[in-house]
Amino acid sequence: ARQFIRPLNDLANQFNTFLSAIAGAERVFEVLEENGEVSDEQDAIELTALRGEIVFSNVSFSYNKDGKTLREVEFRVAPGETLALVGPTGAGKSTIVQLLSRFYDADAGQILIDGHDITSIQRANLRRHMGFVLQDTFLFQGTIRDNIRYGKLDATDADVEQAALSANAHTFIMKLPMQYETLLKQDGSGISQGQKQLLSIARAILADPSILILDEATSSIDTITELKIQEALFRLMKGRTSIVIAHRLNTIQQADQILVIDGGTVIERGSHEELLEEKGFYYGLFQNPFHDETA
Ligand code: ATP
Repeated sequence: ARQFIRPLNDLANQFNTFLSAIAGAERVFEVLEENGEVSDEQDAIELTALRGEIVFSNVSFSYNKDGKTLREVEFRVAPGETLALVGPTGAGKSTIVQLLSRFYDADAGQILIDGHDITSIQRANLRRHMGFVLQDTFLFQGTIRDNIRYGKLDATDADVEQAALSANAHTFIMKLPMQYETLLKQDGSGISQGQKQLLSIARAILADPSILILDEATSSIDTITELKIQEALFRLMKGRTSIVIAHRLNTIQQADQILVIDGGTVIERGSHEELLEEKGFYYGLFQNPFHDETA
């Protein structure tokens, strides 16, 4: 799942460059658009409110012309539901998420959001409906307040603090020497990995997207922070459609639907209980140390 981070980190770096150049900074994806990575169909539509239904219909894709990274992937996530993607490294989990957020377009098949083919939606608009909480939170050089506000640039200070409260981040922020005005370095040094995640959850809460993309951390985080993260994520995910690249048993068990991906195809699907009963690949994951298998 780490590959997914690369494009977003590139974005963050571009954002840092642009931040000084543009007064009233644009959001990263808009910056990206200006850089020409993205071009929309001339008649691309803009969606205002989303229910958040996601459909993958026979989606195939490969990064290079030799070989298929994803083959005929099919699933439907109903509005508000959580889909967990599990499977060994290189299976294609991040690729599914990259196609959904249109870093790449599928070679065959269709991806629909609320019944609209995503290639017919303006890319910036599509991404505005999506929130990302990734393993490596991208932070830019600036205050904690600005780093959270990045989720919604016109948010008031009170909105920022409310989001931090919801994300279980307020307490640690208040203990920092300059509290919300504490300056973060671009690499986020000075705060822990877990605290960075709480900031990214606060950012996502503020942005209030209909669709959430979560890439669960594989690195170990202390138990107390871990519980704070889980609780904050639970609040964030409530009422939103979520796709989680999942590594934790807890998350996987609570998902409405689990897709087991291997070699670019869906090899098993169902709830935790259903998959255990199948006594197949998923079942096998539980016989072995689970975290090592999926990391
Ligand atoms: P992990 O859990 O290790 O992150 P994953 O299931 O998310 O793995 P993907 O990152 O989707 O797997 O990768 C699927 C396949 O596509 C792998 O073989 C990977 O090497 C390849 N791949 C991923 N990104 C690219 C890219 N940008 N260019 C070429 N090949 C890629």
